[in-house]
Amino acid sequence: MSRPSSARIDLDALRHNYATARKLHGRKVLAVLKADAYGHGAVRCALALAGMADGFAVAFLSEAMELRAAGVTAPILLLEGAFDGEELKVAARHALAVVVHHESQLRMLESARGLAGTLDVWLKMDSGMGRAGMAPEAMRAGFARLQACPAVAEVVLMSHFARADEPGMSTTAKQLAAFQAACGGLDARASLANSAGILAWPEACRSWGRAGIMLYGADPLPPTYRQAPLQPVMTLQSQVFAERLLPPGAPLGYGGGFVAERPTRVGLVALGYADGYPRSAPADTPVAIEGHAARLIGRVSMDMLTVDLTDLPACGIGSKVELWGRTIDVNQVAAGAGTIAYELLCNVKRVPRVYEGADAVPEASNPGPCFEELHL
Ligand SMILES: *Cc1c(COP(=O)(O)O)cnc(C)c1O
Repeated sequence: MSRPSSARIDLDALRHNYATARKLHGRKVLAVLKADAYGHGAVRCALALAGMADGFAVAFLSEAMELRAAGVTAPILLLEGAFDGEELKVAARHALAVVVHHESQLRMLESARGLAGTLDVWLKMDSGMGRAGMAPEAMRAGFARLQACPAVAEVVLMSHFARADEPGMSTTAKQLAAFQAACGGLDARASLANSAGILAWPEACRSWGRAGIMLYGADPLPPTYRQAPLQPVMTLQSQVFAERLLPPGAPLGYGGGFVAERPTRVGLVALGYADGYPRSAPADTPVAIEGHAARLIGRVSMDMLTVDLTDLPACGIGSKVELWGRTIDVNQVAAGAGTIAYELLCNVKRVPRVYEGADAVPEASNPGPCFEELHL
């Protein structure tokens, strides 16, 4: 028997979530597939959304090229833009759109020669996040320069929110106002909303939304604000492969931080932090064993973790364990581990992905660069 651990990826849920994003946003939505689709497999996700998504976004060129090589023909935006003139050439050859967030990228476009075609450019403004983007006062001139640039087809105006996942904060409203003040009256499409923007800030919905985390079924809003009908896409699961009885007073695992208070039946689960399960997850982090609520005990190891089977007499070796997915909310695991669902999902590795859903057929050629992918 092989190691019974996998990340099941429900492509129907992905499509459902994209449709939900599209409906909430009201206008076009880019499906953000960076970081291998937040750990879900960018090629498979893109193919599952083909004919449905208005376009895709990735962080940089090689991520886009992986999609083009797999036959994805939809628009693809490079969220960090081109890093040099060579990348710009490749982007033009493969009909990729580029973000311009800095004067140097603007100059790169102005000095580009011999491109295979024109590019759509998303001119990014820093409206208050303070990270990437042109200064507000540089937007009008930047827009005019891009419009005059022979290498450029359409110019879309964009900005990114720092705190859209905090519905009570005034910062998002301030960012919206700053964008409006800097770009109002320019004859161009605009793109402001990430997932949290789509979910919590209807006034941020412009021509293009950019949905990432919500596509994968993890709502980025605080628990009391979560009301969108999103479905978890990834279920990270394994099995109990051994069990043992720990007498009261006995320590469990590295560091001995967990000490049994009662006779404790411990289940060993074949998945650890090398698979992407967070080592920082504390005892009492929820897991589901054969669908029953249970908890993590002891420290997470590299290749295994330990759960409490004491109150589940019917469960033991061979019992199925869900670490997150349809039963266990990845947001809850992330909160307990002091991080966010984004990081947990895109850290998943070493376990095979098993695709489920209407058209979960294997691709003919491209099995992906680093995973053995299983197909049901
Ligand atoms: C990653 C990213 C997104 C998607 O963000 P989510 O919070 O996952 O929806 C949108 N826009 C930009 C510029 C990004 O880098």
